[in-house]
Amino acid sequence: MKKIAIIGAGVAGLTALQTLSKHGCSVTVFDKSRGSGGRLSSKKSGASSWDMGAQFMRAHTDEFRTQLKMWEADGWVAHWDVTPWAINGTQRTASPDDIDRYVGMPRMTGLSRKLLEAADDFITQTRIVETQFNSDSGTWSLTDEDGTEFGPFDELIINTPPQQALPLLPAESQLNEQVSGVHMLPCWTLLLGFENSLECAFDAAFVKSGPISWIARNNSKPGRDAREAWVIQANHEWSERKKDAPREQVQQELEEAFAIATGCTVAASDIWLHRWLYSLPANSSGLGALRDEAHNLTLCGDWCLKPSIEGAWLSGRAAANILTGTHHD
Ligand SMILES: Cc1cc2nc3c(=O)[nH]c(=O)nc-3n(C[C@H](O)[C@H](O)[C@H](O)COP(=O)(O)OP(=O)(O)OC[C@H]3O[C@@H](n4cnc5c(N)ncnc54)[C@H](O)[C@@H]3O)c2cc1C
Repeated sequence: MKKIAIIGAGVAGLTALQTLSKHGCSVTVFDKSRGSGGRLSSKKSGASSWDMGAQFMRAHTDEFRTQLKMWEADGWVAHWDVTPWAINGTQRTASPDDIDRYVGMPRMTGLSRKLLEAADDFITQTRIVETQFNSDSGTWSLTDEDGTEFGPFDELIINTPPQQALPLLPAESQLNEQVSGVHMLPCWTLLLGFENSLECAFDAAFVKSGPISWIARNNSKPGRDAREAWVIQANHEWSERKKDAPREQVQQELEEAFAIATGCTVAASDIWLHRWLYSLPANSSGLGALRDEAHNLTLCGDWCLKPSIEGAWLSGRAAANILTGTHHD
């Protein structure tokens, strides 16, 4: 039985896991975090909870549309029936569209937890800091921060953002150049929880002016806690400029922008500020998944295709297809 290691329990790695386990491989997944999902992240603080990373998933391809329907039938995701608004300054208008938006149940990480069930082993809170390829046996061993070694593995899949993949690649791998060419954009995210419902006409809005690009009432999504909770995402350009700004300043500016966008000035009772250093790829290799045949090494992630959950899913599937020799039309 082929033994495979996946570094990173993001959507791409977990999608690869699905196919590989169906093909009889034994798969061990490593992640530096406490749980799975990567950027499908959820946060709980005080009495409030939020989806802190990806907000919803949508399909541009028939394959992913079909997958979403299957996950919906299994209860892993649900349709979020929301009409987004568009906000420009103090101008707020409903901006209905016919996009089907889905969310993980009962939070975004609910999906990754289900996908993970196919793993033989999930090793959490374990940051892999070194990889060793034995060219005689063609196998990999991995070392974490504490010096613990894992392996040997017949194949290695790396599903981390490119900056975190680079130190794990063999110096002589031809993938180094492709990986170092991908730039990831930061995103400041403010989470606010309130004692009472805000008097705001919309549940989600794309914001076209100021520091914010997206706001959403988390509790308007299916399966979430009823307590009023809002997610505020800054746009990438602003986040890049404020990347190293003091947290208090970032929080204050985002709170002010939120008050302008919603017209609500109620003080929040729970507050959490998060800086995503690697939120979305600005460019991508466009190849689906990257393969270094000489090292039994495959790389996947949204940055290998396109910046979305769908992109990560397609990339993970491409990675597994390389290893199993499967082709999809
Ligand atoms: C704020 C924000 C909002 C977004 N909104 C949307 C949206 O609404 N819709 C949408 O489709 N997409 C959205 N996205 C993008 C979407 O979340 C990503 O495209 C997708 O989740 C990427 O998955 P991935 O598998 O490529 O990588 P990731 O989710 O980044 O997974 C990588 C994993 O690798 C782990 N890791 C890294 N280094 C190591 C190491 N050395 N050892 C062990 N583990 C390691 C990390 O902990 C992480 O779990 C958003 C992203 C962010 C940040």
